[in-house]
Amino acid sequence: MIQFWFSKYELQPLMGIGAVAGSKPRVGALFKIQWPNKLIGYADLHPWPELGDHELDVHIDALRAGKLSQLMEQTIWLARRDAEAREARTHLLTGLPKVKNHFLLNDYSKLSDAMLKEMKSSGYTILKVKVGKMIDEESQFILKTIRQNTWLSIRLDFNAKVDFSRFERFMTPFTKQDLTKLEFVEDPIPWNPEQWTEAAKLAPLAIDNEIDKLDLETFKEPSFKVVVLKPARQDVEKVMKFVSRLNLKAVVTSSLDHPVGVIHAAAVAGHYKKLLPNTMLDSGCLSLRTYKPNEFTSRIQAVGPFIQSVPGFGVGFDELLGKIEWTPLKK
Ligand code: MG
Repeated sequence: MIQFWFSKYELQPLMGIGAVAGSKPRVGALFKIQWPNKLIGYADLHPWPELGDHELDVHIDALRAGKLSQLMEQTIWLARRDAEAREARTHLLTGLPKVKNHFLLNDYSKLSDAMLKEMKSSGYTILKVKVGKMIDEESQFILKTIRQNTWLSIRLDFNAKVDFSRFERFMTPFTKQDLTKLEFVEDPIPWNPEQWTEAAKLAPLAIDNEIDKLDLETFKEPSFKVVVLKPARQDVEKVMKFVSRLNLKAVVTSSLDHPVGVIHAAAVAGHYKKLLPNTMLDSGCLSLRTYKPNEFTSRIQAVGPFIQSVPGFGVGFDELLGKIEWTPLKK
């Protein structure tokens, strides 16, 4: 029988997270899973109730009752990858290309010249900004940043929190020249095929959480060019099949989750970069600055926009995972 243990954790945001979440601690759980053949693997489960997920305990109670939420399915899938790498005594990142990450800014007002200077000198070339809260200020800020920093490309994420007219207002001041520096806009507005087609005339689009509203097997004629893939949330193979069928590009990102989730996402990003180098754009896995560092964060060796390594097998963190007090799912 497959056995589960979990350990709840909290992450303390260092700033408000975009238009969706404030600065209160975020709750998730690490899972330890043992298969009947004795393989043991670890993964994270980090729900976003702000985006419509059930709270953590609902996922845990469902698992206890023998039902799997989509997030739990992904946790198990990732833990299995971890378990197999541990069994082979190899790290999940071994042998994979290092994928460059964007720099994530959850609150535009926190960007300083010193930060930009540091980003540039450490090798970042893409800044991702969560927007949708104060569109006029944000739009002006983005334009100023683009125009003053010609080395920088921008990714924007509205988390579908504005309507079409507000998105249009945001984009109106952008010139053709400015648009060349805007790599894409993620989930500008709630999914609506006609409105997304109109929105695509204003900026290149990427689809993230709104993809849940599409039938990936039958959907045709996308207005977006990029799919944001979160291995912690989505059936990875199904999404990558969709990306290939429609000749799209993909960006792998973390779910702004625990460092264990960050490394799992980075390993999936590296896997697909190796397999489909022309399909995969720079990643968004290095989201560690979102939260106050914890012991796990300190084990990740990152140089500028690249995650280098984490000591251990699988996703690493062996020593820390061994020290955790695990709660058995069934008492
Ligand atoms: Mg997004």
